[in-house]
Amino acid sequence: MKLIDTHCHLNFGAFNDNYKEVIERALQKEIGMIIVGAAKETTEKALAIANEYANDPVYATAGLHPTHVKDEVFDTAWYEDMLAEKKIVAVGETGIDLYRPKEQETFELQKEVLQQHVELSKKTSKPIILHSRGTDATLQQAYDTIFEALGDYSNGVLHCFTGETADIKKFLNHGLMVSFTGVITLAEEIAETCASVPIEKMMIETDAPYITPQRYKPQQNEPMFVEEIARKVAEVKGMEYDDVVAQTTKNAVEFFSL
Ligand SMILES: [Zn+2]
Repeated sequence: MKLIDTHCHLNFGAFNDNYKEVIERALQKEIGMIIVGAAKETTEKALAIANEYANDPVYATAGLHPTHVKDEVFDTAWYEDMLAEKKIVAVGETGIDLYRPKEQETFELQKEVLQQHVELSKKTSKPIILHSRGTDATLQQAYDTIFEALGDYSNGVLHCFTGETADIKKFLNHGLMVSFTGVITLAEEIAETCASVPIEKMMIETDAPYITPQRYKPQQNEPMFVEEIARKVAEVKGMEYDDVVAQTTKNAVEFFSL
């Protein structure tokens, strides 16, 4: 495995018809992937896909996304059983999403579910994948809530970072990893933030089917395009592409114990 897309959703409906082709294309280029669960159903699907590729670097995670906390009661025992599976490498994605009014209403529940994920991560020793989203008025509240839930626990990654350099410093100081998507090919200020992160603390991801990198628009995003994100990281950090690939892959292998 040369590269790994550390966060994608091949388990979502958008890939029902073509996930096999998409996986084959990536594997042919020695690109692995982690398929992230967002509720019971998509966690099961992520594991089923990963198990179809038992001998390949195709992995899954188990968690309930903050925008889905009202759809099901968080069943700790069920998620803990899933986390015993070899192919399931992380807890999440979980976190705080205060972007739309609809989500702001479920804040208390999101907080509770996030805390339960943190406990599961501690108990199983599998790292936690954190999502955070908000408006200009609510983003800091989302960040603060995540730090509060973590306490001094730091075995986690903040995925799809889109905040400012000052914010990212808080996550790095806490000891967390940070991962970047194709947003760095779309927004110059996020690319600048990315440039400020030490390569040893960084991972890369597509978050497919969302956020297609600039070069591949308007195609559907897919794990293979993680190459483009590595290219952009190399550009903004003034590094060799091969060094970005080697270091971010090493980071992911260690972080997720792949
Ligand atoms: Zn996601």
